[in-house]
Amino acid sequence: MITVEEAIEIVLSNSKIIDIEDCPIRDALGRILASSILSPHDQPPWDNSAMDGYAVRWEDIQAGSDHNPVTLRMIEVIPAGQAPRFPLNKGECSKIMTGARIPTGADTVVPVEVTNQIGEKILILKTGSKNDHIRLKGEDVQKGESVLKKGKKIRPSEISMLASLGVLRVPVFKKPIIAVLSTGNELTELNEKRSENKIFNSNGYALCAQAEECGGFPLDLGIAQDSKDALLKKLQEGKSADILVVSGGVSMGDFDYVREVLGAYGKIKFWRTAMRPGSPVAFGEYNGKPFFGLPGNPVSCMVTFKLFVEPLVKKMGGASLFRTEAFPAILDQEIHKKKGLRSFLRGVLFNDRQEIKVKLTGEQGSHLIHSMVEANCLIDVPEELERVEEGKKIMVIPLDSDFSH
Ligand code: AMP
Ligand code: MG
Repeated sequence: MITVEEAIEIVLSNSKIIDIEDCPIRDALGRILASSILSPHDQPPWDNSAMDGYAVRWEDIQAGSDHNPVTLRMIEVIPAGQAPRFPLNKGECSKIMTGARIPTGADTVVPVEVTNQIGEKILILKTGSKNDHIRLKGEDVQKGESVLKKGKKIRPSEISMLASLGVLRVPVFKKPIIAVLSTGNELTELNEKRSENKIFNSNGYALCAQAEECGGFPLDLGIAQDSKDALLKKLQEGKSADILVVSGGVSMGDFDYVREVLGAYGKIKFWRTAMRPGSPVAFGEYNGKPFFGLPGNPVSCMVTFKLFVEPLVKKMGGASLFRTEAFPAILDQEIHKKKGLRSFLRGVLFNDRQEIKVKLTGEQGSHLIHSMVEANCLIDVPEELERVEEGKKIMVIPLDSDFSH
């Protein structure tokens, strides 16, 4: 058996390049930038006011005080979106709105709250400092600067930046197509009547959702019966996919054919990792595509997707951050596990008086989907440990984007 880290290394070394497509920024949420974006102009494009107030010459007001306010003559009102008409001369000011361009000659803005208007006369009640409340040209972004790097995931903040620069479309990586095949004679599709001795195919749905969540495009191949022919036929249907993910049939059962098929018609790169749940995970190449054989138990299946498939989907999808970063939390209870296997226990992270703590979801059986529903993280317990005491720090892998960073 290889370690989880060794397995992840092997998986990631099988990443293949994916094409690029053009995407309107309205549809770009969650997509990965395929090239760095250079700013076409300075942002802000010109010096402008950060406040509603008065644009003034510092030298006119610097001698003023609360007791002895300076009086200036207002020469115009400058709304946002309109150019100033007049430069400021000695003793003059212009009323200015937030975002409006600073007139020539002005070097400071005095907020309206610390002024008094009497006709055209403006009393400056508080002077502040030189250059106050002026947002400088190019302060956010300079023309030609690389503002967003290739490989960055596009969030609302990136869309804000792109829109502010007038960029309507961006190159993004195509979403890797993930073919999902569920194996097992016991499986029933959800739109079929479930007869006795059968269960619904939950893995197919879970895996498609996971594929989509991490930036892939799921292609559900449905169910294959436990036979080599059925497997081969279904895998053929997944030919157009970039990654193949099969659940079930990868263990030691009499009807587990996935490894045999992969070995005979493709190439096995590893089978079994020193972990729980999910040790019988298989990985290789089929039709020149990365192929995963995930264990059938629903929890093992989701956990192995998270650990092995997700980073590959993200990497092939061009993301520069493709591994979920683990972080430490304080154990709220003692935990026990089997020595020699790295365990990924289902945990609940919670905030306890400013401390991030973690507890188990309860029973940890790999057939208990319930334990995944309760969980917002996986507690990552190293191979060599058998027991970790309450109060000790332990690494956790977030499952909810609320906890990811
Ligand atoms: P296997 O890995 O094929 O031996 O399956 C292990 C366990 O997972 C068995 O109890 C299967 O019934 C269950 N299982 C396999 N595939 C699925 C699936 N697609 N949905 C729900 N349970 C499954
Ligand atoms: Mg099976």
